Amino acid sequence: MDDIFFSVKHHTLRREIREFLLKELEPLKDDINLKKEIPLSIIKKIGEKGFFGPLIPKKYEGSELGLIAHCLITEEISKINVAVSVTRTPCILNGYLLNKYGSEQQKGLFLKKIATGEKLCGICVTEEEAGSNVAGIKTVAQKKGNIYLLNGSKKFITNAGIADYYFIWCITNKNVNPRNGTSVFLVEKDTPGLTIENPYGLMGLNGVYNGIITLENAEISKDNLIGEEGSGFQSLMDTFNIERITLSSECNGISLAALEDSKRYAKNRIQFNKPISEFQLIKLKIAEMATKLRAARLLTYSAAQLKEMNIDITKEASMAKTFSSRTAVEITSEAVQIHGGDGYTDCYPVERYMRDAKFFQIGGGTSEIQNLIIAREELK
Ligand SMILES: Cc1cc2nc3c(=O)[nH]c(=O)nc-3n(C[C@H](O)[C@H](O)[C@H](O)COP(=O)(O)OP(=O)(O)OC[C@H]3O[C@@H](n4cnc5c(N)ncnc54)[C@H](O)[C@@H]3O)c2cc1C
Repeated sequence: MDDIFFSVKHHTLRREIREFLLKELEPLKDDINLKKEIPLSIIKKIGEKGFFGPLIPKKYEGSELGLIAHCLITEEISKINVAVSVTRTPCILNGYLLNKYGSEQQKGLFLKKIATGEKLCGICVTEEEAGSNVAGIKTVAQKKGNIYLLNGSKKFITNAGIADYYFIWCITNKNVNPRNGTSVFLVEKDTPGLTIENPYGLMGLNGVYNGIITLENAEISKDNLIGEEGSGFQSLMDTFNIERITLSSECNGISLAALEDSKRYAKNRIQFNKPISEFQLIKLKIAEMATKLRAARLLTYSAAQLKEMNIDITKEASMAKTFSSRTAVEITSEAVQIHGGDGYTDCYPVERYMRDAKFFQIGGGTSEIQNLIIAREELK
């Protein structure tokens, strides 16, 4: 399948990233899960290799490798430890946003540092009363001369506490439809009035920071407004498509690992005097896991390919996300089943895969919301 979407350049890149991750991330992956801590040094090393910059031009220190390469890199990191990839994701998304919608001055100041992983990002949309209903956000940015005064609160923010740059979506005009009255601001971590808490833990993604961002009369320069005032909803919808492809690749990375581990385990585990891989019920599981995974990857890479051709992928990105996340949940559950009692212990990574996979049916827009988007596009 890879030959459909990969050029020689992509195959070379995959060899390179596999070699790098085997040396740098593989030895850490179990410790990250058990200690619930991702060493910042590994994030920095991934950044230094150029893996934060595939969607950023070389002019701003990006690697300009494109979306297919981005999916490939994301899959490879996620195969080993998806929490590390999830930490990188907001940087990819805000890098994409800033490159496409930011001013030259903003790119000069911030984009290079995002491209190299020097500065980490948070993407701040969700609020207590605005989850699936993104247009319901209440955080406000009130213009006062050359500054905006930001007030409100954001919930479930990945990288809250470790990010340097928080991209915060706010209402700048209450009198119009939020689709025309929303704007996005880059807020630096030490800004007075910005506070961050991490009051809960997560079911999976061990090591990922997640928390609440509160803004109380935070003064933000008008120079930190990304794009035109009122354009934040449109730029968010565009960025969501990249997010959905990225999250699909993370799911597919988990599924690839779960399938590989299951095949290896089934060939080695002896019951009734033969490897369990010789039982037809186990073979059926492996066959269905492999088929679903191929379909999920085809949906994801074809959506990425369409986007590289500048075609609108609203429907295709949602299809990839909802299918890849469901597939990851199903494959990881079967992987635990194939591992029997071992699968339920933390001696094998399949329990981690199963906990991690569930996130992707919720984060980046729930499966229900993806299906509403698909149906809306189909019924147009
Ligand atoms: C680990 C993690 C990391 C996250 N990271 C970020 C981040 O970095 N930045 C950020 O902004 N957000 C982040 N989120 C938030 C995430 O995007 C939201 O949780 C998600 O969009 C759902 O919103 P909600 O939790 O408020 O659920 P709700 O919107 O309250 O939904 C609850 C249930 O109702 C369903 N539902 C809602 N509306 C409809 C409808 N119209 N039709 C049918 N069913 C519906 C949903 O599908 C869901 O099953 C993160 C979440 C998690 C768990």
